[in-house]
Amino acid sequence: MTTPSIRQVVSCMDGYDPDALRVDKACEAIRQCLVPISGIERVATRSALGRVLAEDIVPAIDVPAHDNSAMDGYAVRAADLDAGAETALKEAGTALAGRKFAGALGPGECVRVMTGAVMPAGADTVVIQEVVRSENGRVVFPAGQKKGQNVRYAGEDLKTGVPVLRAGHAVRPAELGLIASLGIAEVMVKRRLRVAFFSTGDELASIGTPLPEGHVYDSNRYTLYGMLQRLGVEMLDMGVVRDDPALLEAALRTAASNADVIITSGGVSVGEADFIKGMMAKLGEVLFWKIAMRPGRPMAFGRIDTGEGSAYLFGLPGNPVAVMVTFYQFVRGALLHLSGRTDDTALPLLRVPCAAAVRKVRGRTEYQRALLYVEAGAWKVRLTGQQGSGVLRSMSEANCFMVLEHDRGDVAAGDLVSVQLMEGLA
Ligand code: AMP
Ligand code: MG
Repeated sequence: MTTPSIRQVVSCMDGYDPDALRVDKACEAIRQCLVPISGIERVATRSALGRVLAEDIVPAIDVPAHDNSAMDGYAVRAADLDAGAETALKEAGTALAGRKFAGALGPGECVRVMTGAVMPAGADTVVIQEVVRSENGRVVFPAGQKKGQNVRYAGEDLKTGVPVLRAGHAVRPAELGLIASLGIAEVMVKRRLRVAFFSTGDELASIGTPLPEGHVYDSNRYTLYGMLQRLGVEMLDMGVVRDDPALLEAALRTAASNADVIITSGGVSVGEADFIKGMMAKLGEVLFWKIAMRPGRPMAFGRIDTGEGSAYLFGLPGNPVAVMVTFYQFVRGALLHLSGRTDDTALPLLRVPCAAAVRKVRGRTEYQRALLYVEAGAWKVRLTGQQGSGVLRSMSEANCFMVLEHDRGDVAAGDLVSVQLMEGLA
């Protein structure tokens, strides 16, 4: 697949306005420009955790491989049991998990079975041990047992030849176990996406050094590191780059040669963007957007192509909260898509009553930092304190975003609002 020209893609989109771009339009524009990576590698099953499958998983065996007992008790032939009265059967032997009963069950016989034991030949039903008693060397069963009860059937979990996971599926703990239950020791996964990132700004100081007057510590590289780490991508931390076109160009060239994606923070706001625009125009195709959202209005998206390497570029705003919000709303989904995920990666939106009134201007999507909590047994959501886009504390105090949609106006106390949980954003 060739990479589509970004300008071509956006010029075909309805309602594309770079100076007042709706969040959904920006997502659509980005998505249409992305071509997922194709590299794959074979890894030990355990190392596949957090990776993306590059092959369908098709069982070569049934799981479970045999009909087996779901309980500790006795395997019987249902036909031997009297539906309306007790029945006494002869105990013919024992079947344990991993050690089957060698013979076959004859009429009038039962076999003691443990959970997981292979069903003895001839038996079709298991009666739990708690309801039987011994009498004169025989086992007495109560009336009212159902044919087939307490039996797990071969292939009930996974069936030979029926694909259970598709290429593009993420491997979580459940998938890891599923793959292991098939006896598969190695799987093909997509290679990890490589993401280079750096901060821009003459005012940035590095942690662990004294803070010169008028400077701020570079915190964006740390939130980005954390968010990227949780996505399981390979990271290339390129540090701080000064607001100098030559240095920025050199950094972008290095990043494009070494990564699939470049993420920068700062330098895309009006005023600052101008000298960067000129420099980027010769390095590739980069669009500068004003997105109808808060926080996170300015953002750049495009592709750097230097001849020696190419990479997608996400130029995020500099404000610390805006970095996180734009990352979650635009970059996260893009990185998962580029990584080869084909399952649904959209973040769930819950609808929860808002505890207090919130002011909202129509015509932009707002991502307010909020707290989802329980009061008198019911979930509610309220804003955390100060909502400025530089106030990172508002993110730290929050456990969710209150998402106020583009066309929504003021929210009254008790109104339902959309909530995006921060837990699970990885
Ligand atoms: P900019 O988008 O470059 O104009 O930056 C907007 C605001 O975010 C300014 O107040 C910057 O000081 C601040 N800022 C930019 N980059 C960082 C960073 N890496 N860490 C913390 N704050 C930043
Ligand atoms: Mg700056």
